[in-house]
Amino acid sequence: MKTLKTKVAIIGSGPAGLILGQLLHNQGIDNVVIDNKSQDYILGRIRAGVLEQSTVDIIRELGISERMEREGLVHNGFTMIWGDDYQRQRIPFTELTGGKVMMVYGQTELTKDLLAARNACDALSFYDAEDVTPHDFYSESPRVSFTHQGEAYQLECDYIAGCDGFHGVSRQSVPEQEMTVYENAYPFGWLGVLADVPPVSDEVVYQHHQDGYVLCSMRSSTRSRYYLQVSLDEKLEDWSVDRFWTELKRRLPDDLAEKVVTGPALEMSIAPLRSFVCEPIRFGNLFLLGDAAHIVPPTGAKGLNLAASDAKQLSDGLLQFYNQGHSEGLDQYSSKALERIWKAERFSWWMTSLFHKLDDSAFRQKMQLSEIHYLAHSKAGQTTIAENFVGLD
Ligand SMILES: Cc1cc2nc3c(=O)[nH]c(=O)nc-3n(C[C@H](O)[C@H](O)[C@H](O)COP(=O)(O)OP(=O)(O)OC[C@H]3O[C@@H](n4cnc5c(N)ncnc54)[C@H](O)[C@@H]3O)c2cc1C
Repeated sequence: MKTLKTKVAIIGSGPAGLILGQLLHNQGIDNVVIDNKSQDYILGRIRAGVLEQSTVDIIRELGISERMEREGLVHNGFTMIWGDDYQRQRIPFTELTGGKVMMVYGQTELTKDLLAARNACDALSFYDAEDVTPHDFYSESPRVSFTHQGEAYQLECDYIAGCDGFHGVSRQSVPEQEMTVYENAYPFGWLGVLADVPPVSDEVVYQHHQDGYVLCSMRSSTRSRYYLQVSLDEKLEDWSVDRFWTELKRRLPDDLAEKVVTGPALEMSIAPLRSFVCEPIRFGNLFLLGDAAHIVPPTGAKGLNLAASDAKQLSDGLLQFYNQGHSEGLDQYSSKALERIWKAERFSWWMTSLFHKLDDSAFRQKMQLSEIHYLAHSKAGQTTIAENFVGLD
């Protein structure tokens, strides 16, 4: 067995793990990343794509923003559509938040930039690792064991960062009685299509429709991401891409439906929606970050952004510890991060409840439409949406 030593062992090489690793590396704090998948597999994952201002700032701080600045699309507003008469209102979030913007830049592209930075520096990483397991994190000598290319490793460290997503091993290693889980499953899912066609609109469109929510989003000026609310018992094999385009156009108002450019799907999937938070998110010397600690329904575009802000917060705490010798930031990581996480959970849950067909109750639908109408026509209402959408400080 090979024994290695590092300051921070990072389990998982998604956005949370890679951002944390790079923030620490840039400040000279030794860390090792271990993922149970290959880099090619990780780069093939198609996920989020809307970055908050604070995430953009972190990418800039990391010094890897060149491609994002060139290829990312800066957004200053989005449009809400609702009702049988397809009323619409643009939410000018930049104007309402003192200049904050959103950046459309695919998670896949961001991951490519992060992996390139990791590969270009001398930080150690293990991909395709097997049996990755955190140990002794309630002691002063935590470690992570794993097997790589047939060889068994022990990675001794000061801290373990569990950045291994919702199904990862980190949270599952914590005794059940040490955490409280808060969870909400939604009785519908999102049928999504990613296609190399120009988006129907320059800005994101959220539509409340009596047959289910519609989201028109994009990853670039030539790559569109569309979603339709579907019931949980819908089967992907029953949906051809042609059926998807037909249903999308049927739900959209005529002027937008006419503008939809159709094409083959690069990816098509049905995703269930879930809210999940575990508390606390620190267990001795094991910290949980990103999807390992919390899940939001994608309606608020918060998942990737929360992963980035968790990474920034933990890295600040670690820098304080290693450079100034005190652990205040680490001690406050769980409570401070959870404050921010719950606000994003609330916004994502609220936007989901506002725009989706919840059940067949005509009264409930009237309430939703009335609330959207109120928000759309009240400056205070628009500001509430805007400041949550661009990300609270
Ligand atoms: C299908 C899908 C679509 C999404 N769409 C959106 C969207 O449109 N908008 C939005 O805001 N958010 C979206 N999200 C959420 C967003 O992508 C996540 O919140 C984000 O990826 C979280 O980053 P993370 O680093 O915490 O976790 P992940 O990206 O999940 O990374 C976890 C890493 O850990 C590794 N890992 C897992 N288990 C182990 C193990 N046992 N040992 C070692 N490594 C392990 C994985 O291989 C992975 O590389 C989507 C998520 C999914 C799954």
